[in-house]
Amino acid sequence: MAIRYYTNVFKIYGISEGITRALRGNEYMQLKTLENAYLKIEDDTIIDYGLMNDLKNVETEADIIDCTGRSILPGYCDSHTHIIFPRSRHEEFVDKIKGLSYEEIAAKGGGIIQSALMLRKMSDSELLEGALQRLQSMIKTGTVAVEIKSGYGLDLASELKMLTVIRRLKELTDVVIKSTFLGAHAVPPEFKNNQEGYVNYLIERMLPVVADSGLADYVDVFCDKGFFTVDQTARILEAASKYGFKPKIHANELDYSGGVQVGVLHGALSVDHLERAGEEEFDALSQSETIATLLPGTAFFLNLPYPDYKKMKKKNVAVALASDFNPGSCPSGNMNFVIALACIKMKMLPEEALAFSTINGAFAMDLGQTHGSIERGKMASFLLTEHIDDFSQIPYFFSENLIYKTIINGKVD
Ligand SMILES: [Zn+2]
Repeated sequence: MAIRYYTNVFKIYGISEGITRALRGNEYMQLKTLENAYLKIEDDTIIDYGLMNDLKNVETEADIIDCTGRSILPGYCDSHTHIIFPRSRHEEFVDKIKGLSYEEIAAKGGGIIQSALMLRKMSDSELLEGALQRLQSMIKTGTVAVEIKSGYGLDLASELKMLTVIRRLKELTDVVIKSTFLGAHAVPPEFKNNQEGYVNYLIERMLPVVADSGLADYVDVFCDKGFFTVDQTARILEAASKYGFKPKIHANELDYSGGVQVGVLHGALSVDHLERAGEEEFDALSQSETIATLLPGTAFFLNLPYPDYKKMKKKNVAVALASDFNPGSCPSGNMNFVIALACIKMKMLPEEALAFSTINGAFAMDLGQTHGSIERGKMASFLLTEHIDDFSQIPYFFSENLIYKTIINGKVD
């Protein structure tokens, strides 16, 4: 049993007591900050915290880490990523600069299909190597829990290959990983002009095997213009629910697609994107437990409009922030930058952006009871910052990595 104290901490952010669901409206204020404080952990668990003035009876065998000038944040919980992919799509990046749209690139055979054709030819170990590097760089910028999607296989064998790589990542790192089956990311070339045929194949052939493999926690559908319709999404989610899969879906990125509503109707844990969403979508969300996961890195990289956070807040929608790390629309998994964009482009207060990247991100992966805040009994997965005066300096110095150390389950990376 190893006891460790982090002492003389300048500020501890994100302290909670018994939060049971994602925060909404002004509930982010429930998260407290302590100044000149200590944090006590035992093995992988947070045991206590308090003011330095109240620190007494320190066990003689305890390890003491002096944190003078440094602050502690809960580790980031990035609830939406696609970090398993064959390689970067920088050619497409240049095509976009030249003016081609997402749909035009897809029509040209680029985009998701290009990644899928490459991925099908790659071995598990080649895929694992790239994904592991990405994950390690995300840990360095503060991510302690992450959701990873399949969706670049688009046939049974290749989707299972991706899900197997996700399992290997779980074995190789301490980061908590949730796995999502995204067979409905795009229609593969062998089903070109036969989208219904692919949906049937997914429901009848892929889903039963994926469920049986135990490799996926959630099911996702790209419900949007040019991808899957509301009806197809509903059919896939109904089939998935028979296997006990909760949905986390892509919705309303490219159009007012109905994705948000169909997600809410099927009890989605989260509906993600929402660049094209308004009153109707927010009304549906405000009455539900479904979390709206916003991915401002994608809006930045694709020059899309940013989701309307102010309206969501007014409607009491629970919001999470995530990176969407993927090779086509957001080649970054740096949550500090996501927070900066949320503050600068969506006018979130830094404390709101922090809550949405930690505790609400945790709830968007069913991890709210163990992660996402500094709370007695939760996992000791938190961050030590460089010397900053206030958390708002993290989004302010938007291109710096001000995370000094990432501690996961009590272990320093
Ligand atoms: Zn995505």
